[in-house]
Amino acid sequence: MAFLFNSDAARGTVFREAFARELPDLKFFHASEVVDPEKICYLVTWTVPEDISRYRNLEVLFSIGAGIDQFKSEKVPGHVKLVRMVEDGIIRMMQEYAVLGVLTLHREMLAYREQQGEHRWQALAAPQASERRVGFLGLGMLAQAVIERLKPFQFPLAGWSRSTKEIGGLTCFHGADQLAGFLAQTDILVCLLPLTDETRGILNARLFSSLPAGARLLHVGRGPQLDQTALIEALDSGHLAAAMLDVTDPEPLPEDHPLWSHPKVMITPHIASVTQPRTAAQSVIENIRRHRAGENLIGLVDRTLGY
Ligand code: NDP
Repeated sequence: MAFLFNSDAARGTVFREAFARELPDLKFFHASEVVDPEKICYLVTWTVPEDISRYRNLEVLFSIGAGIDQFKSEKVPGHVKLVRMVEDGIIRMMQEYAVLGVLTLHREMLAYREQQGEHRWQALAAPQASERRVGFLGLGMLAQAVIERLKPFQFPLAGWSRSTKEIGGLTCFHGADQLAGFLAQTDILVCLLPLTDETRGILNARLFSSLPAGARLLHVGRGPQLDQTALIEALDSGHLAAAMLDVTDPEPLPEDHPLWSHPKVMITPHIASVTQPRTAAQSVIENIRRHRAGENLIGLVDRTLGY
């Protein structure tokens, strides 16, 4: 029985040390080493290897990232468990980035950046946080962690998910029928949805038109969830005031893409949160321990839902 690490060598070294310490009985291989594929029981990877069928005894396929949308999961045999990365580093970085993004949009930082370019010193209207409604598309692990950090600012908070939820301190909406009602009361929309067939293209002209005039978008989900042309139209018409995008489609955008230079847009290169090897290794080790003990895995993907 062996473990295969199919990602960058630097992170692999951290994993190898942690595994040697905490799972000494499990043989550890990096993808650069020669290994008998039939020995591999656990695999950490970003994408599903082309030769996945060679790993005939594979039991758990771990994503090195928080999403599994990059997996072509139809290539993975049905009995193999798919696990997304749930680890403290990803959570903490997303909390930092999303709080920064909400405050950036709330305090008009993009408009001030534009004014600075024009050497213009002018105060803009500054609604109180208690008057700025922040709504989350997706109420999963990351959104809920961000919400905890936002609570002290006193933004009215709401969120939308697939299933019914009750979360203290926020108004919860769910399902397609409640989406428009959720959007109508959202001034800063944060997208933290996984990319699935249902969420692809969800940030579109129809969705934007359901937001109140002057709303703002913080997109930290996945690029293909956003209709970028519709976003530009909504910004240019003045219906949306600003957008901060950590993800685009494609990544990076082509050199001449209008989003790069749009004054109402801030782009970061998919850095909101990044898997941290030390904490990620602990998370994978814990899941292997659970798998061996027949316990539930943390971050287990429901293959029918795609997340
Ligand atoms: P979770 O799986 O914990 O949560 C997903 C949430 O989305 C759940 O609340 C789920 O609803 C909801 N959801 C999924 N599909 C639908 C749907 N069709 N309609 C309504 N709600 C839906 O995911 P995480 O919080 O861990 O991560 C979310 C995403 O964030 C990741 O998949 C990834 O794409 C992105 N991400 C981006 C990063 C970046 O650096 N930009 C870094 C890390 C993650 P329910 O609760 O009812 O199941």
